[in-house]
This record gives sequence, C-alpha cells and structure tokens, in this order.
Amino acid sequence: MAETLFPTRQRCKTCSKKLGGPGVAVYLGLHCSPRCAGLAEPHQDAATAPRECKTERNSHWEFKRRYRSFSEIPNNLREDPSTSWYWCGHCGSLHIGHSRIDLTRESHRVLGDREALSDLLVKSRGHATLKQVAEVAKIRPIRLKELEDPLSLKFDANALFAVLGVYRLKLAAVLREAPAGRKY
Ligand SMILES: [Zn+2]
Ligand SMILES: [Zn+2]
Repeated sequence: MAETLFPTRQRCKTCSKKLGGPGVAVYLGLHCSPRCAGLAEPHQDAATAPRECKTERNSHWEFKRRYRSFSEIPNNLREDPSTSWYWCGHCGSLHIGHSRIDLTRESHRVLGDREALSDLLVKSRGHATLKQVAEVAKIRPIRLKELEDPLSLKFDANALFAVLGVYRLKLAAVLREAPAGRKY
C-alpha cells in the first residue's frame, strides 16, 4: 500500500513529531528531520551538494527549488506532460526534473545554458552508448562525453555539430524574447 505523504500526513513517520509548519522542511514526504528519514545532514553549499539537488546557472551551482509535496508544485508545471519530478536523496524534497524530449510534441527547444544543452544531448542519445554515437559522428567518445558534461572545461564545437548531425538536430539562435505568455 502506498504511504500517506505530507500534507495528508501530519506526523513524522519515525518520531511522530508534528510535520511541516510554514517553511519547515519535510523529508521524503514522511519525516521531520534528515535523521528520521535516514538521510545525511544536507550540504549547505550547492557546490559540494550531489548533482540531483542542484542546477548550474550562469556557470555556478545553485540548489534546485525544493517542494515538500506534489501539491506544492505549481499547477502549470504539474500539468505540463513534458516535466517530471523526483524525490531527492540529498535534501529529501521533490525537484523538477529536466523536461523529457518527446520529438512528437517538441519542435524546438531554447537552450539557455550548458546544462540545457547537455540535457538535450543526453536525452537525444537515448539508449545508444557514447561509443556508438561517436563512431557515427566520427569523433572520439571522450569528445561526446565532454559535450554531455555541463562542467567539462573542454568543449569541441566541431564535435558538437557532428553529434547534432547524427541526432538530426539543428541549432538556432533566438534573436528576440518571445512576447510575454508565449511559450517556445
Ligand atoms: Zn521525526
Ligand atoms: Zn535536493
């Protein structure tokens, strides 16, 4: 049977303490503290926190937005079938995951940073291995690995275009912001 989660659950599953006052963290929807949830004390610095808990913005790490329950995720995100969410094993909160690539639904995507590009490349590769794609693209697998890693210092633009060719993707530049309310 599925566990009852916060906010329906009002008491910590482990110690029965009251759960989730205003702004008070709830862990995995069940617990009042990392300890009760069996988690390590979360890192205070995003730079050292695990990948699942952070996102890269303007070339530094920031913590991802934390939600204590599904009901706290804004409606527009919850109803968008291209978004996903997951329980974070570091902070015990829900995070919004990367949008999945669904080529039948998406015609183009704006890539605002390296992380978005990496995500596009990883998702496009699907179940193929680095080696398989690199072979078709006629590049070394390490070059593809670097492209898929938003933090790698090395970034070979020629390799990028070779890989995009394999995935049948083309890059475009957005020259103006879309009018308010319009989604890309
Ligand atoms: Zn507790
Ligand atoms: Zn987290």
